[in-house]
Amino acid sequence: MSVEVIFLGVSAALPHRDTANAAYLVRIGNERILIDCGPCILQQLDSVNVSPAELTHVFFTHRHGDHTLGYPMLMLWYELQENPNLALPTLIASAQTFAALDTLMDTAFGNVEGVTASAPRIVLPQDAPAEVQIHPHIRLRTFPMQHSDFAPVLGVRIETRGPFGEHAIAFTGDTLPNPNIGVLAQEADLLVHEATLSATLEPQYAEGAYGHSTAQVAGRNARAAHARRLALTHIEAATLEQRQILIEEAQREFEGQVFIPVPGLRLVL
Ligand SMILES: [Zn+2]
Ligand SMILES: [Zn+2]
Repeated sequence: MSVEVIFLGVSAALPHRDTANAAYLVRIGNERILIDCGPCILQQLDSVNVSPAELTHVFFTHRHGDHTLGYPMLMLWYELQENPNLALPTLIASAQTFAALDTLMDTAFGNVEGVTASAPRIVLPQDAPAEVQIHPHIRLRTFPMQHSDFAPVLGVRIETRGPFGEHAIAFTGDTLPNPNIGVLAQEADLLVHEATLSATLEPQYAEGAYGHSTAQVAGRNARAAHARRLALTHIEAATLEQRQILIEEAQREFEGQVFIPVPGLRLVL
């Protein structure tokens, strides 16, 4: 009955040779929640020996391609199984994000769409916090982040209790520093915070820019929220070559554990 996070990738929009786009799999009992679905998602899942058939939920933070371009490929996987008993995962996103997902699917595989249409959906508000109980002991809480008017982001906090123990895992998605991160990350066992920018390497963007945060901001938010651990993610390919700089930048703000996950890393809470 453990709660486990598997890191599938930590790169920003453009992948690095060592890691594809930011995506995560949360395993809680029999539930398998995929967070984001970039262009390499099938390969990322296969590399940790997880079949799309195992997924129970797919959460999309926002419509940008590094978080959604794998959606038509994931859906094609289900279309090609020819298994009438295959259960499709429940898709969770805002209405704006769903509109983009439907356009992607129509454009890529509109002619084969069959079972995809039967995937259950949970549509969340984009402009207000929301809660979804996906299991008697698992709750998703979402909060609007500040990233892009074109592609509004929902940060997601996954909370467990009962047989899974009391845990909270927080994912910011892509975002500028904003007050909702404090609620999202409050006393989280793990805060997965974007760090597209570096205050050390790019001091002119120390407080965030272009809809993104620095590792310094991530560390500050982890400390303010009393999070236990901080995973830095959504990291530029060039910066990944100097990842220790980001870790040290966050460590100057936050005393807890700071790390940049390698793809395939499993963390058991
Ligand atoms: Zn992104
Ligand atoms: Zn984005």
